[in-house]
Amino acid sequence: MKSSRAEGGAPVASHSHIGIGDEIYQLVAEIFPICRSVAGEGVRETLRRLQREIGLTIREVPSGTQAYDWTIPREWTIRDAYIRNAAGEKVVDFKSCNLHVLNHSAPVHTKMPLSELRHHIFTLPDQPDRIPYRKSAYAESWGFCMAHERLMALPDGDYEAVIDSSLEEGSLSYGEYVHAGTSDEEVLLSAHICHPSLANDNCSGLALLTQLAKGLSGRRTRYSYRFVFAPGTIGALAWLASNEPGTKRVRHGLVVSCVGDGGGPTYKKSRRGNAVIDRAASHVLRHAAPASAILDFSPYGYDERQYCSPGFNLPVGLFQRSLFGTFPEYHTSADDLDFVRPEHLASSYAMIDAILDVIENDFTPLGTLLKGERQLGRHGLYVGGDGAPATQASNMAMLWILNFADGHHTLLDIAERAEMPFAELLATARRLQDHGLLVR
Ligand code: ZN
Repeated sequence: MKSSRAEGGAPVASHSHIGIGDEIYQLVAEIFPICRSVAGEGVRETLRRLQREIGLTIREVPSGTQAYDWTIPREWTIRDAYIRNAAGEKVVDFKSCNLHVLNHSAPVHTKMPLSELRHHIFTLPDQPDRIPYRKSAYAESWGFCMAHERLMALPDGDYEAVIDSSLEEGSLSYGEYVHAGTSDEEVLLSAHICHPSLANDNCSGLALLTQLAKGLSGRRTRYSYRFVFAPGTIGALAWLASNEPGTKRVRHGLVVSCVGDGGGPTYKKSRRGNAVIDRAASHVLRHAAPASAILDFSPYGYDERQYCSPGFNLPVGLFQRSLFGTFPEYHTSADDLDFVRPEHLASSYAMIDAILDVIENDFTPLGTLLKGERQLGRHGLYVGGDGAPATQASNMAMLWILNFADGHHTLLDIAERAEMPFAELLATARRLQDHGLLVR
């Protein structure tokens, strides 16, 4: 992101972030194999990996701690899980894919006929070659997940089911990183960290925000930026419960998930519906991609549900490519490292960067002469001659800004009204300032 002091304001070109797409993808690939859950070593290992990129603080909340209506669960440790047939062959093996075990499953070591074991096996009959992702963090149960076609192919008979796991008192871990701006007003950027090997949902969000935080370090910004990497729902609630007074400083925020696929982009508005983040995101997405979807708030989705609960009602929206639950790879073994691509991660990064640029650089311009239209030619600003679309747009940008620079309209207000990209108007406003036609 460009700081308010930095030169620029040019539209974010998609080709300018190719390198960043590869960097984000690399990090996605590194954290993908880790078996995360709502609480346990998987989350810690992931946070420690992110810590190598940014000075992340890892915080621990003990099991049993209350976070509003929820209780921090026990830690889950998983060592092995498999189903073995009578011949001793493993027909399901956690070590080949960590989605094979019900996430947060209780331990078990039993032998039973397939007809009985089936009650503990989850499959996707509609997508028979994919392994589903299922979890049981708040009710104690045990189970396996496997491809439906593999289950159908199993002959009847007795099978040995082993889940070598433990559920013990410990703590839930979350990570926090703050980039200090000139103001203590904050932008909250949050991604969940509780899913095992799923690349888009949500290794992509974790990796993208980590690279964004890394990009901010050493830059001068107006806002302070707080990054939260917490297990879904309970982690966000734990963060809210231990930071209630601090939430008053949050001026804008985004929950980021599923940012590596080629769909969307999708922006789900905050509960307020007209917060600056809602307007900035809608504006950027409309100009970035004609197929973008802007959705109203609903109380289902990711951690925006907690940040936007009525007692907080924070201006936090959700940025995604394909909307959760709407793509067939969602919560299955097909959400893998082939499903997310560096170019999609790069364009998601560019869009989030552009949204934050609006928030960082928006201001209320005031013209130095409000009576009558400015004679642009006299100030060396009028681009005449060929009438090409670019020159027309440049003249139009100046006219729009000068007409609305009455001290009552922000640059974002003008961008929305003129239907011109914010970045273009910002560059124009800076030129007008340089020529003495505008002040802040
Ligand atoms: Zn999910």
